[in-house]
Amino acid sequence: MNAPEQPFPFDAAVAEAARRIGERLVAWRRDFHQHPELGNREVRTAKIVADHLRALGFDTVREKVAHTGVVGLLKGGLPGPVVALRADMDALPVVEEVDVPFASKVRTEWNGQSCGAMHACGHDAHTAILMGVAEVLAGLRERIPGAVKFIFQPAEETPPAGEDGGARMMIEEGSLENPRVEAIFGLHVTSIQPTGRIGYRPGPFMASADDFRVFVRGTQTHAAMPWRGVDPIVVGSQIVMGLQTIVSRRVNITKEPSVVTVGVFQGGVRHNIIPDEARLEGTIRTFDEEQRDEIHAHVKRISEMIAAAGGARATVHIHRWYDVTVNDPALTEWSVPTLGRIAGDANVGVIDKICGAEDFSFYQKQVPGFFYFMGCTPPRSDASTAAPNHSPRFYVDEDCLPLGVRTLAALALDWLAANA
Ligand SMILES: [Zn+2]
Ligand SMILES: [Zn+2]
Repeated sequence: MNAPEQPFPFDAAVAEAARRIGERLVAWRRDFHQHPELGNREVRTAKIVADHLRALGFDTVREKVAHTGVVGLLKGGLPGPVVALRADMDALPVVEEVDVPFASKVRTEWNGQSCGAMHACGHDAHTAILMGVAEVLAGLRERIPGAVKFIFQPAEETPPAGEDGGARMMIEEGSLENPRVEAIFGLHVTSIQPTGRIGYRPGPFMASADDFRVFVRGTQTHAAMPWRGVDPIVVGSQIVMGLQTIVSRRVNITKEPSVVTVGVFQGGVRHNIIPDEARLEGTIRTFDEEQRDEIHAHVKRISEMIAAAGGARATVHIHRWYDVTVNDPALTEWSVPTLGRIAGDANVGVIDKICGAEDFSFYQKQVPGFFYFMGCTPPRSDASTAAPNHSPRFYVDEDCLPLGVRTLAALALDWLAANA
């Protein structure tokens, strides 16, 4: 008589392997945390990752992809498709304020300015988790149908000024090809949820992010005789107010929310001079690519027309950064039971849209992808008031690391089994 077939034959082995590497998982994460590297400068981190994958017997380990990225391929012992898992490796120019023995004391520079460096977005955890998944799956490889591609990506937080990088460049340099990837999974730690909780959302999940600059050209004159010139500060102020009507008056808010914020308003050097020029800078966030294009057109038209009405001239530059992070609806629906099985159904739920952006969105434009959030605030703290990602006080509860390993490993194994 045959023993009944196990529905999920890998779960026990994955849980056991994750337990076995638990201490090293923490050690990796602390090492990365203490030695953070900014975008396109992840040289030390990438070497540790590549050495690890090679030591595990990966079939290929490509280094220096998109400057400092590492792409490893682990072929299973059985035929099947290719699934990708992605982690980002870069830190932020933030001076750490968390009181832990492995706090970062690194000083470096960003865009020519001296600064600190800190893993204030938890990418140290992501890198350690994916190294852990690599080890767990390498131990099971003979039984795996297909192959797993491990994508360790630099510069998620954007590369330094004047450089290319991040997910878009990883794709341009072939990280989804040879062999062709058919689905991709990724996760992010978040302090707004407690350890053990997983949040996701089908469809548009995280916003597109673009920045704009408006140069308002007037005519300089004595501040006591405004009629002798054109005041770009008054015109610029009208433009700020005009831009606020885009979301409130022009966008169909029943479809998706959006944000237009002016974060910089500069002009003038003295109280008694009306300057030649004023400069505005801001950000645009949307959850719909069509609305994104519409808002760009509104920003341009409103700025130019208001300036013209005041006798000034506005020049508008919009830089497109990241696309909307869209979780493939079918893949999301398929992924949720796996997450529930590993984390407990009660710990997995739909969360609100997030106005932050992710360059995971670029992979999702190429292949179906699923991105989820994993809580990293310890249960003794209040997640609703915990310091957010990017704060100098952002804190990662290391108890979340094994859940990251187990969920990513299970998603990859389940997906390969279902698509072999
Ligand atoms: Zn971030
Ligand atoms: Zn991040």
